[in-house]
Amino acid sequence: THQVHIIGGGLAGSEAAWQLAQRGVRVRLSEMRGGGGETPAHQTDGLAELVCSNSFRSDDDTKNAVGLLHHEMRRLDSLVMRAGEVARVPAGSAMAVDRDVFSAEVQKALEEHPNIAIVREKVDELPSEGLTIVATGPLTAASLAQSIVKATGEDRLAFFDAIAPIVHRDSIDMSKAWIQSRWDKTTSASNEDGDYINCPMTKEQYETFVQGLLDAEKGEFKEWEADTPYFDGCMPIEVMAERGVETLRFGPMKGVGLDNPYDRTEVHPQGRWPYAVVQLRQDNKLGTLWNMVGFQTKMKYGAQVELFRTIPGLENAEFARLGGMHRNTFINSPMLLDRQLRLKSAPHIRFAGQVTGCEGYVESSAVGLMAGMMAASELSGEDWVAPPATSAMGALLSHITGDAGASDYQPMNINFGLFPPMHDVKKKARKEAYTSRAKADFGEWLEGLRVPA
Ligand code: FAD
Repeated sequence: THQVHIIGGGLAGSEAAWQLAQRGVRVRLSEMRGGGGETPAHQTDGLAELVCSNSFRSDDDTKNAVGLLHHEMRRLDSLVMRAGEVARVPAGSAMAVDRDVFSAEVQKALEEHPNIAIVREKVDELPSEGLTIVATGPLTAASLAQSIVKATGEDRLAFFDAIAPIVHRDSIDMSKAWIQSRWDKTTSASNEDGDYINCPMTKEQYETFVQGLLDAEKGEFKEWEADTPYFDGCMPIEVMAERGVETLRFGPMKGVGLDNPYDRTEVHPQGRWPYAVVQLRQDNKLGTLWNMVGFQTKMKYGAQVELFRTIPGLENAEFARLGGMHRNTFINSPMLLDRQLRLKSAPHIRFAGQVTGCEGYVESSAVGLMAGMMAASELSGEDWVAPPATSAMGALLSHITGDAGASDYQPMNINFGLFPPMHDVKKKARKEAYTSRAKADFGEWLEGLRVPA
């Protein structure tokens, strides 16, 4: 009999199974592919199938946050990193893999492990007891999704994401933008001046911008995404632009109630209302990341960067995440999960992988890795100590389990904006400063780790 039941043999579930089994824990790994289930994106029955690109992105652990995540995962003997190394194909400073070799390596390691039983079955209900890790990914089977909804509440599970671009705060030009809430209605005590950063536009700038939205190259919805229910409140910005030149100016880009301090006149000593405005709202507790309100989009990444850098104040904007819209099953983790990824209302159940609202192969695997370690320490009776918030794993975990804020929670990649800021370090040296601090703190954490290694 097993001690932990893992549902979903994708990236997160496979990694979690490995971490547990290596620590002597007996695992049942349920995967529906090959057992009567399928998803619209997976093509094979292989465990840890990469459904789209074959890249784990940058492998540079000195200047890149995802590269740093690779480094930390390797130090924890990650199976995904091990198999990735075997399957590696040339890709410059990136880590790319042969997807078939990769999946076969993961599957072989798990099949051969004496502590793991792989069962090809679709799980339709959250188990009512027994340590469980739910790692069913962005395309979680509908029956189980319904069971999750039943356990968490109707609006706590999303079936689509609507991602607005996120900008690093320190790349916004505050000699053109300013902080103010519309009509000076501030909701949080910490932001005395207001909750929004406002980037003003003249009539001419606005009209050029709207034309830019219409002309920009867009991504297509996949066939199985075509029924995207985006019309309830999260329409792509370019679709709004298509409805008429004024639509945005009466929607997310309206300038009323905002006094542009760079446009003061005798009649308007506080500043005139801008013709149109782009507003950014704080996205994480650290205040390092700000999202462009209402700017969810299907525009191609390159087109987004080009067009959004024409916005006054965002000429040098660095994006922590660009906009997107996809079919994606994920729970409102900051609201539902405790700091150990356990469902607050049913703590025998952990969530891991993309279903927690992290985004990407590497991030999903990393969250699976941590979930496995957490369950192992729970079984051994040791207190779990989370990786430091200054490390990539710690930053990602903190974000998911609370720092993101629960209102309008949307998927997130690892990026330096999730790390405690280092304002005193010059911008040029900052990425290296983040990674050196992370490595030192992570190393210390590893040494003190009491979970069986
Ligand atoms: P998955 O790898 O999807 O694993 C979940 C597993 O659970 C699957 O094997 C599934 O069959 C199984 N399962 C689901 N429900 C049940 C059930 N009820 N019972 C038993 N088993 C079940 N990320 C990138 O970094 N790069 C990309 O290029 C990329 N492209 C993507 C393209 C698409 C179309 C999608 C949907 C996502 C993409 N992602 C990409 C995002 C994401 O990182 C991957 O989806 C990643 O595989 C997530 O890992 P996971 O383990 O959470 O989920």
